[in-house]
This record gives sequence, C-alpha cells and structure tokens, in this order.
Amino acid sequence: MKVTVVGYWHAYPEKESATSGYLIEEDGYSILVDCGSGVISQVQRYVALEDIDAIVISHYHQDHIADVGAFHYFRLLQKYTNPSSVKPFTIYGHRDDEEGFQRLSYKDVVTAIPYSSHAPLVIGPFTFTFYPTIHPVPCYAMKIATKNTSIFYTADTSFSPSLAEAAFGSSLMIAECSMYKGQDATPAGHMNSSDAGRLAHMAKVPQLLLTHLPHFGNHQKLIKEAKEECLDVKVDIATSGWSITL
Ligand SMILES: [Zn+2]
Ligand SMILES: [Zn+2]
Repeated sequence: MKVTVVGYWHAYPEKESATSGYLIEEDGYSILVDCGSGVISQVQRYVALEDIDAIVISHYHQDHIADVGAFHYFRLLQKYTNPSSVKPFTIYGHRDDEEGFQRLSYKDVVTAIPYSSHAPLVIGPFTFTFYPTIHPVPCYAMKIATKNTSIFYTADTSFSPSLAEAAFGSSLMIAECSMYKGQDATPAGHMNSSDAGRLAHMAKVPQLLLTHLPHFGNHQKLIKEAKEECLDVKVDIATSGWSITL
C-alpha cells in the first residue's frame, strides 16, 4: 500500500498546499481519503483525476470536504469532453448527518453511498473499518487494510483510548495534531502533539505521521513533543507529497 499526503493543514490551506487529503494506492486502485480545500489541485501531482477510483470522507467539516464540489464539476465536464472515459463514481460518507451526506452526490455523475461502524467497507483491494471519534460533529476514524498491511487514520478527534485499541496492529498511524504540547485541544475535539504521541504509544504502532497541522509555531517541535510520549515510535510530520510504501 502506498500512502501519499495530498494536504495536511488544519482549517484552511496555506499557499500552494491543501487541507486534509490522503491518496491510498494498491494494485492500480487509487482512493482519496478526505477532500479538503486545495486537494483537487494538489492530488494531480500524483494521479490524474480520472484515475481516482473512489473518495472516502471522514466528516463534513470544510477542511475535509471543501473540494468535493470541485470534483463534482470535474466529473460533470468530463461527461461532455471525454464521455468514453466516464465510469460510475462513488463518494462514501457516513449518514449521521443527512444533510452533509446528501451533499456528496451530484446529478448523475457522482453517487453517495453510506458507510457505518457496523460493517467493514470493501473498495477494490482495501477494507475500511470505521470508528466514531470525539469531535463536535459526527466523524469517523478508519483502519484501511490490504492483504499485506494496514494503516490507521484518526481523522478529527480528541484523545480517545478506544481509538488506540482500534489502531492496534497497524503499520502506520496518521494522527491529527492540531495543537502543541500543553495546549488543551480536547474542548475543540482535537489532539495536541502529546495526545497523538500517547495514542501511538498505546496502539503500539511502529510509525506515527502527525497531520492536520496548526497555522502557528514550528512544526518540527511537534515531532519532539510527540516523541516524548512514544520513544520507540518513528515520528514524522506531514508535508505535501510525503509518501510511504508499506
Ligand atoms: Zn473536523
Ligand atoms: Zn479538520
């Protein structure tokens, strides 16, 4: 499984970058996980838009869905400019917020299909398992498994021991890190660097990628702060194009 960071910002994208978006590839399948602002532009550095097979959305905050509309319009135009290449397209999202879910589909070019935490979702070579997070709106973390490996993406959440349990056995944890050590991210439904490190330690994952990064301070400091909580875990910070093959 190849994982590429398309966007990593909390809230809004700084120049020439994007908010949440992760490209997951295996056996010729390309899945985009979250589709925040700037993602549709940035993802084309790694894959052509027509080669994306599906999109999976964790929740309906703008920094995770803002570019869904851009993707809708890409699909609509493709229907006229390159009709032979148009195949059915699905965006998967939860249905705990019906209004948010309905916004994922568009005319006859994009269909929305719900996922839930009650059953795994299989898309090509990937099996997604969903776990509710602690966030002001309904949001799902996800374990993404192939036959050889698995990763865990926390999406947006405050610290939750149950997510550590869910992530157990994963080769990589992609954890949100919206604040620095000592700042209380819990009331906002987020984690700070210490929370993310502690979660990785509890999950016993070998590698932690900090993402959903704040618009202040020195991001390198987040690595050091998280590492204090998980000394035997390799800790990295998300940047545009950060990539790993597991
Ligand atoms: Zn959120
Ligand atoms: Zn967010």
